[in-house]
Amino acid sequence: MTDGDGRLGTQDLHAHTTMSDGDLPLERVVALAVERGVRIGIADHISTRNVERFVATEERVRAYLDALQDAPVFRSGEFCWCDTMWKELPAEVMDRFDYRIGSNHGFHLPDGQMGSPWWRKLPAPWGQRPQELMEIMVANLCDMVRTMPIHIAAHSTLTPPALYALEADVDAWWTDEREDRYVEALADSGVALEISNRYRLPHDRLLRKALQAGVRFSLGSDGHTERQVARLEWAEGTARRVGITDADLFVPERRG
Ligand SMILES: [Zn+2]
Ligand SMILES: [Zn+2]
Repeated sequence: MTDGDGRLGTQDLHAHTTMSDGDLPLERVVALAVERGVRIGIADHISTRNVERFVATEERVRAYLDALQDAPVFRSGEFCWCDTMWKELPAEVMDRFDYRIGSNHGFHLPDGQMGSPWWRKLPAPWGQRPQELMEIMVANLCDMVRTMPIHIAAHSTLTPPALYALEADVDAWWTDEREDRYVEALADSGVALEISNRYRLPHDRLLRKALQAGVRFSLGSDGHTERQVARLEWAEGTARRVGITDADLFVPERRG
């Protein structure tokens, strides 16, 4: 073994609990992490996009951080690019997270509407202008990593299935030029690129370019269930295939 202390594949920095939309209570996630030999970061949704299930008020964020305080986990949160909470929480609350994750769960369209990376069908007028839509999504991703106070961009290359239904080749949407632009934004901002075990993203070419550009990486299960939490097989295999080592990983520190 030549790649450090074996951190690659043993650090899952993106797991959910019943404090947002996960199936498992914190104690069960902690037990699974121990069983599966993984250090775990809890990153429940901090967002008003689903006030029923997400941590959606400052008061609830404080209670959430209190609940994580004494657990043997990293204390994180997954903030939505398409929400305002990340702009509104006081610095003193934001500073209590060991690290913060940002996600494109919706991207801003020029007409004030939101686009979705999960769209299976493109609403008008985008059915006629799919490349323009992709261009807007990539511009949003670049803005996201440059603007949000985050350490990791989660499942960021998630691309609407409606686009792949038009053209299945990833290169048709993630062109060389768009990849370069996103990699440059990551490198400039210092935000780490998540390799998502759940979504099986990003694709190898983008990862290789990011590695070349000195971007750091983070492996995340994005686990919500017993089966998913602390599982990193695909993410670890992908990281090794493209040449990522321990030295290229984002490593959080427990605060205070
Ligand atoms: Zn997410
Ligand atoms: Zn998540």
